[in-house]
Amino acid sequence: MSTDERGARDEAPRVSREGVGHRFLPTGTFLHIYCPHCQADLLEERRVHLFIVSARGLEGVLRLSPRFNVFDKESTVDLEPGTEIRDLRCPRCDTSIVHRDLECEWCQAPIARVHVSAVRLEFDLYLCTRVGCHWHGVSEEDRQRVSLDEPPGRSDAAPPDA
Ligand SMILES: [Zn+2]
Ligand SMILES: [Zn+2]
Repeated sequence: MSTDERGARDEAPRVSREGVGHRFLPTGTFLHIYCPHCQADLLEERRVHLFIVSARGLEGVLRLSPRFNVFDKESTVDLEPGTEIRDLRCPRCDTSIVHRDLECEWCQAPIARVHVSAVRLEFDLYLCTRVGCHWHGVSEEDRQRVSLDEPPGRSDAAPPDA
């Protein structure tokens, strides 16, 4: 058969792109955060905006820092440390971003998912819904591409190291 290798030449070298794809996400990285459903940009006035329903069922607005591992937050409803946020919703499409079938690796609370673009990567970032728990995660698949810096410290809400 033919030994012509023209077909193997590819102007977009996919293999090498995969090779450089793994990135580290350091504390303080500015994250562009989007709704995983409607792709709305959730950043407004330098804060990530989400609709929140507290453990007691009170509805309000949650404003988070867009910087990774920076846990500044403001809420228009009272958030008692250790309680699980009942719901988080996109302010544009009003769809919940909480996954009740997925749990925090530290405290087993349901986790929320946002879409993130940072360090030339796009991936889904998971956040714990327990007030005060600082767990973050990415999917099994995305762990091949991105590693997360350790948070400043596990909260008291989290169980101790095994
Ligand atoms: Zn949305
Ligand atoms: Zn947690």
